[in-house]
Amino acid sequence: MGQHFLVDQNIARKIVEQLSPDVESVVEVGAGMGVLTQYMVDDIRDKFYVIEIDHESIDYLRAHFPTLGDHLVEGDFLKADLSRYGQKNMAIIGNFPYNISSQIFFQVLKYKEQVVEVVGMVQKEMAERMASREGSKTYGILSVLMQAWYDIEYCFTVNENVFNPPPKVKSAVIKMRRNAVTDLGCDEQLFVTIVKQSFNQRRKTLRNSLRTLLNPEIIGNEVFDKRPEQLSVKEFIALTNQIAASHVSP
Ligand code: SAH
Repeated sequence: MGQHFLVDQNIARKIVEQLSPDVESVVEVGAGMGVLTQYMVDDIRDKFYVIEIDHESIDYLRAHFPTLGDHLVEGDFLKADLSRYGQKNMAIIGNFPYNISSQIFFQVLKYKEQVVEVVGMVQKEMAERMASREGSKTYGILSVLMQAWYDIEYCFTVNENVFNPPPKVKSAVIKMRRNAVTDLGCDEQLFVTIVKQSFNQRRKTLRNSLRTLLNPEIIGNEVFDKRPEQLSVKEFIALTNQIAASHVSP
């Protein structure tokens, strides 16, 4: 399945140590052979859940961690109803399957009212993208959409040789904490559309890439001379409000 299993116990422990003690439930995504699981299963058993898609891994985990019981869930994290594992202050943790890490973050966004923290290992490039600020080449859709709701911290880089088999890329651990924002102050759906549509043609000016959304009153505004990587989260929110206002008939 192209998965890379962490074999370095110190790093496994260090990842689990990033979890904040105040979380009320913890969901591990893709436990594999349980290298992270082993450091949580005893300490936080009542509030700990594992979601793993692979049947063989499930058999292995059931045999090695019998106390998990029905907290071991066979299924797809991307389709999981996270409200079954806690109503608030939930943490998501895992050495994420890299091919679906963006989708994992979109699933987190869907449950942002519950998910207060994410501790995850991802490709180094992905970690950098998530944490990068406007003006940076790596600033993109996920940076804006995640930073709107989470404070993102790049914790540490992880070398290829601590995995079996070693991946071709470097990895990194990131930690995300829900910020204090409860309302973006704009139409959230339109915000997402605008962010995605701008970055899908990141070298073009906003005037070009957002043309379908801009009516004549505002199309000349200076902000549309910019390119998406120049806009902070706040500026994307302001832009969303500008566009929304121009669509309301007087
Ligand atoms: N945590 C382990 C395994 C990491 S490999 C370790 O660090 O060694 C990624 C794991 O995610 C694999 O066990 C794979 O079966 C699982 N996985 C892949 N896609 C998944 C999905 N959609 N939902 C849940 N688990 C998934």
